[in-house]
Parts: sequence; C-alpha cells; structure tokens
Amino acid sequence: MSPLRPERVPTIRELLAAGGKSFSFEFFPPKTEKGVRALWRAIRELEALRPTFVSVTYGAGGGTRDKTVDIVERIATDTTLTPVAHFTAVDHSLRELRHLIGRFASVGVRNMLALRGDPPGDPLGDWVQHPEGVAYAEDLVHLIRNSGDFCVGVAAFPYKHPRSPDVDSDTRYFVRKCRAGADYAITQMFFRAEDYFRLRDRVAAQGCETPIIPGIMPVTQMSTIERSEQLSGAPFPAELAARFEAVADDPEAVRLLGIEHAAGLCEELLQQGAPGIHFITFNKSTATREVYRLLGADAYALPRLTA
Ligand code: FAD
Repeated sequence: MSPLRPERVPTIRELLAAGGKSFSFEFFPPKTEKGVRALWRAIRELEALRPTFVSVTYGAGGGTRDKTVDIVERIATDTTLTPVAHFTAVDHSLRELRHLIGRFASVGVRNMLALRGDPPGDPLGDWVQHPEGVAYAEDLVHLIRNSGDFCVGVAAFPYKHPRSPDVDSDTRYFVRKCRAGADYAITQMFFRAEDYFRLRDRVAAQGCETPIIPGIMPVTQMSTIERSEQLSGAPFPAELAARFEAVADDPEAVRLLGIEHAAGLCEELLQQGAPGIHFITFNKSTATREVYRLLGADAYALPRLTA
C-alpha cells in the first residue's frame, strides 16, 4: 500500500459534509493495452488536481467487469485518489453482488455508485432481472448499506430516464432510491444549466435533500454532438448546436468552444448551489484540465480529509 495513503479513506458523504464543492473525474475500463496506458496517463495527470474522488464505470458484462475491479483496486492501493466503484445489477446474482462488495471492501474501497445497468448489447432492450438478483438500483442501495460502512451514490436523469413513462414517476422512484440510503447522486450528462435546476427543483419539491452532482462532458468534436442524444437521452440544444456548426470546419475552434461552454456551464451550476462537478473524461485529461483551470476550480476545492 502507498505510504501516502491514509488508513481510513474518507467517504464522499464525509467529503461533501465538510463543506465546499466536490470535483471528480470518471473513467472507463479500456479494452486494449494502448487504452490502459492512456487511462493511467490520464489518472496520473488528473491526480495532480487533487479531485474529491474518481470513479470507474462498470461494463455490461464479461472481461471489462474484472477490469473495473482491477482498476478500482489499483487506484485504491497505488494512488492518493479516493476511488468510487460503479457497479450494476446486470447478470449478477445476490451472491455475486455480495462477493463484489466484499472484494472492494478488502482493499479499502468504501464508495460505490449503485446502478441498475442496461441490458448488454441494446441499452433500450428488455430489462431482464437475474433469477437470483435484484430489480432496481434501489435494491442495490439497500444491499450495499446492509453490507457495512459504505457510502452509496446513485444515478439521476435531468431529462428523465429513457425507460420512465413520465417525469413524475421518474422523480418518485428517484426519491425512493435516495431514501433507501443514497448519500448523493450524479446526473447523466446535460448541456444547459436550466435542465439541472429543473431536476433539482422537482426532487426538492418532494422533500428530498440528497446532493445531486452534475455530470459534465465537454464537447471536443462534432461527433460528440451527433452522439449526444444517445448519451444524454435528449436532443442537443439547437441554439448551442448552431454555435458549434458555425465553426464545424475548424476542429481546434470546436474544441475551444466546447471547453469555454463547459466552463461557463460549470460556473453557473456552482454559483447557483450545485454541490460540485463530475467530469466525464473518456480517459483523456486535456479537456478536463482546461475546463478546471478556466473555472478556477482550485479555489472551490475541498480540503481532502486524512484519517
Ligand atoms: P433505476 O434507478 O433502477 O431506474 C431504472 C428505471 O426503473 C427508471 O425508469 C425508474 O424510474 C424505474 N424504477 C425505479 N425503481 C422502480 C420501482 N420500484 N418500480 C417501478 N419502476 C422503478 N451503466 C452501466 O452499465 N455502467 C456504469 O458504470 C454506469 N454508470 C452510470 C453513471 C451515471 C452517473 C449515470 C447517470 C448512469 C450510468 N449508467 C451506467 C447507466 C445506468 O445503468 C442506466 O441508465 C440504467 O438504465 C438505469 O440505472 P438506474 O440506476 O438509474 O436504475
């Protein structure tokens, strides 16, 4: 274990309760050796910014799931970062879910993001519960909470979850998931501050005060805009798309506009009370570091707790 590492790693709950804002970075498990090298380069570059936590997504099945566990374990043991393990209920029995929780706990990982996950192959295909598994993220929250001293995050959807028939039921089930013991939520990506504020207001109107951290992905190329509906669950805002289209022939101008827009969005969110920002990095550090710098995030950052 790294000598820099405190014996008891702070939970996100404790970090948020310490005041200030949370800044975090999300990575995914790469499929190739080249991807692994790029991931660790990004992790090391972003480590210098002393984020509140970093998270690693959990794949739809097979080998990438083991990679998630390996990466989270290595972050916990070889870096000064606080890792959050995403994990899903897809294709897992309760016994396997308990085993995973135990494996994370054995290397000191106490922060989990509890997600139901999507069916492998077709995210909008029929959800099939494992015969000995759980049906909803809410059940995972209960399971993790009952497994020990863990801190649990959940997912939130500014444009409602694509499977939810309407915003009201989406909000109701989100609030249930929070009341099951979630300490915080992280949103799906979005591009207009008002979409986050609407989500926050409708959750608050139900009497739920769980902190909701905005998930932000800077647009760095035109293809991101084309994929954004699939990624975010809503069409890319037309007025913003027009600004990107005006510079579409110049890749560097697209990148700079994306960074400037993301920094402005983060600033508005933070000034109006968002508890922090969760950056979706796609395992690259440059855009995130530029937004972070423009935003002056260092001035907001929380002191990291030591045991
Ligand atoms: P749930 O909260 O269970 O909700 C799923 C649907 O069921 C919603 O429509 C909800 O309204 C409804 N519902 C909930 N409870 C009930 C109930 N009791 N009765 C009836 N209906 C109910 N996916 C991955 O595979 N790996 C990842 O690492 C990953 N990371 C993510 C990180 C973030 C920040 C976000 C926002 C999403 C992530 N996802 C990931 C995607 C997520 O797994 C999918 O969007 C999934 O379809 C929904 O997960 P959930 O946890 O929100 O599900």
